Order: sequence, then C-alpha cells, then structure tokens
Amino acid sequence: MSKGKRIIIPVILAMLVVGIWLGENIRACPMNDMNPAKQLFALRSWFNPNVVRKVHTKEKLVALTFDDGPDPRYTSQVLDILKQYQVRATFFVVGEYVKAHPELVRKEVVEGHEVENHSYTHPDLETDDEIEVIRELEATQEVLRKTTGSSPRYLRPPRGLFNNEVVETAECLGMKTVLWDVGVEHHSCSTPEQMAGRVIEKAHPGIIILAHDGRLDRTLTLEALPIVIEGYQKMGYRFVTVTELLKNATGDGSVVTQPPSLRLNKKTG
Ligand SMILES: [Zn+2]
Repeated sequence: MSKGKRIIIPVILAMLVVGIWLGENIRACPMNDMNPAKQLFALRSWFNPNVVRKVHTKEKLVALTFDDGPDPRYTSQVLDILKQYQVRATFFVVGEYVKAHPELVRKEVVEGHEVENHSYTHPDLETDDEIEVIRELEATQEVLRKTTGSSPRYLRPPRGLFNNEVVETAECLGMKTVLWDVGVEHHSCSTPEQMAGRVIEKAHPGIIILAHDGRLDRTLTLEALPIVIEGYQKMGYRFVTVTELLKNATGDGSVVTQPPSLRLNKKTG
C-alpha cells in the first residue's frame, strides 16, 4: 500500500465516525424538528435581550420562583414557609387561578413577594397562534391589575415553551421573558432530600430556582422547600425577587448562554 493510501484510509474512517456522531447529536437537537422559519425564530430568541436565561451577580444572591399557583392546597403553606425563613420570592401565576383565588395573590403581595405572568390557562404558547398568545398574556395582565393594582413585568411561558413571537408579544405588553437555572421538581428525584440536594449542588451567585405551588401534586415540593432554603442560607446566600436579582446583575442581566431547551415535561410542568 502506498504512503498516500495509508493516510487516506484512517482519515476516511475518522470522518465516518465524526459524521455518525454529528448525525446522532444533531438529530437530538429539538430545533431539528422545526421548519426553517421556526429555526430562525429559535435562533433569534437565543440572542433576544428580552429573554432572561441566566443572571450573574457578584453577591451571593438567589431568586426563588414559583409557577402554577395560586392554589388553595399549597400557596398558603408556601407563604408560611417563606415567612418563617424571611425569604422573598417571585410567583408566576396562572390567570384563571388568580380569578378563582384573588385573596391568595393579594396575600403574596402584602407579604412582600413579586407576582408575575404565567399565562391565563397554562397552554403551550409555542404552538398557539399569535391572537391566542396575546389573549393569554393580556387576560392575565388584566386580572392581575384588578387584583393587585399593578402590572407584571415578567412572563414565564408554561413549561418553558416559547418562540420569538411569544417573546415579542410579551415585550409589547411590557414584560421580559424569564426562565430558570434549576427546578426543584425533577424526574430523577423521588424524595424531598434528593430534590433539595440537587438544587443546592447547583448553587451559584445569581441562580434562579424554579418550584411549583399549584396545579399538580406539590407535596414533595413543600417538604423540599425548607431544606433548599436552609441549604442556601447556610452557604451565605440571600433570597431576592427577580427584579432585585436583575438589578444586581453584573454587566447585562439578560445573559444568553443556553439554547431554548429548558423544557419541563408534562409531569413536572
Ligand atoms: Zn407552569
């Protein structure tokens, strides 16, 4: 075999291995299922300054956020835990639940927490048409204005599903889209200790923690919550609202460092 052939064969083999690896990994990317127009939207949303994916702070700050409330089964208990540890949090509420339980939302505000928009009926905003997205976000803004007297400044799309149209609609209504770093509920954890341990392990200044106070069974979340709070407080972290966290961001608070794959499955969402 000539010297040229001896080099070419390993090169072709290496290219084949890399090609197979790339094929597998590109197929695993959620954007691959999208049509080209949607891919462009998704790419634009990576660089959209109105999507808060990560916040870095100098000080050890943490924002604890709750989705899917208010819910009479859990919200008051969550508020009691927060009061006990003197923690201020941010609640991303579902509009139709606000209408059903306005007293719980007023209690959140009176106790110093922030209340923000998590849509009206908890749909998949990514697949909703534009009119429906506007309706979902506006109806929630309105019911919150009536209930608390002020308008939300942040949107958290249900299950983290959104596209650039959702972000732009939110922006038109005066809201930034806010995601999260780590969720308390996770399919790999079956005990409150495991749930809390996973969240504590991921601690870094500026972290946004997602928990839930409604819709599904949140018994384990209630049990994990004190462990999470104590863990962070022991490490010297201070709990702040999303607004305070963004105020303390080093450089641009809306740091875009992750693709839009922060998705919750239907079990945890
Ligand atoms: Zn949700």
